[in-house]
Amino acid sequence: MLAFSIGFLNIEWVDFLDIALVAFLLYQIYYLVRGSLASRVFLGYLLIYIFYLVVRAIGLELLTKILEYFMGVGAIALIVIFQQEIRRFLFFIGKSTAFANSRLFSRFFKQPTTAEKINQFKPIIEAVRALSAEFTGGLIVIKKNDELDKYLQTGEDIDAVLSKRLLLAIFNQYSPLHDGGAIIANGKIRAARCILPVSDSDEYNNLGFRHRAALGMSEATDAAVVVVSEETGRISLATEGTVFSNISASELEERLKRYLFETDRKKI
Ligand code: ATP
Ligand code: MG
Repeated sequence: MLAFSIGFLNIEWVDFLDIALVAFLLYQIYYLVRGSLASRVFLGYLLIYIFYLVVRAIGLELLTKILEYFMGVGAIALIVIFQQEIRRFLFFIGKSTAFANSRLFSRFFKQPTTAEKINQFKPIIEAVRALSAEFTGGLIVIKKNDELDKYLQTGEDIDAVLSKRLLLAIFNQYSPLHDGGAIIANGKIRAARCILPVSDSDEYNNLGFRHRAALGMSEATDAAVVVVSEETGRISLATEGTVFSNISASELEERLKRYLFETDRKKI
């Protein structure tokens, strides 16, 4: 076994592997929570842990005990606070494995065929073009793989065949359904007036709430979210925590096709 020592320390190659893996994990955690509220919570927890180590080293027994209990409860609290990040992390791991991309696997889970997916776009693109020209606000969620039941429940059930006119009717400013987001899955408008999770990312701090909701939804799920701004008529697309602002309708079509057809982790 490869081993050497620095002073009193005996170091084996597995220690290097251990350190490298921990560093990699810490980086991944940092990468996931960076810029979010969770990152500050993470930092706070880390500081308490360091404080705990110091207190224990000094030998303050009572304080050590109290901090131990606090961190035990804190660990459960962390799972709740980091729920979104943990889900995203596991989602990325699952998504990037060859197994998840295999044909056999996708047949098992009955994903929509390419033709079904293409049919989704045309009415969306045409509706978005019209909304943009009229400066009518719009927020359209297009399902990829993740289930969206949780968000569907917050709005009004529609379950109608997707069409340009229906989308325009929903987002018309006099429509009782125009607030919130419409959710499209497998060629159907499943619901409208849905409440989407608002992102607290610092990265895009000039965004309004409609755009933040689109970003938040793209962080929480793999859905593609299209926004038309009421103020500027601009079209934006949010996918996997990234916003592509002020794009043309044809660029939107290109990006949607690429994103919804891609099977790997690549960003569009
Ligand atoms: P715009 O450019 O169209 O003005 P914006 O990004 O500046 O958009 P706001 O002006 O705050 O955002 O838009 C408010 C609208 O966004 C609301 O009327 C509502 O329809 C929608 N909205 C805001 N928050 C959410 C949410 N959490 N989920 C779904 N829709 C939301
Ligand atoms: Mg606004």
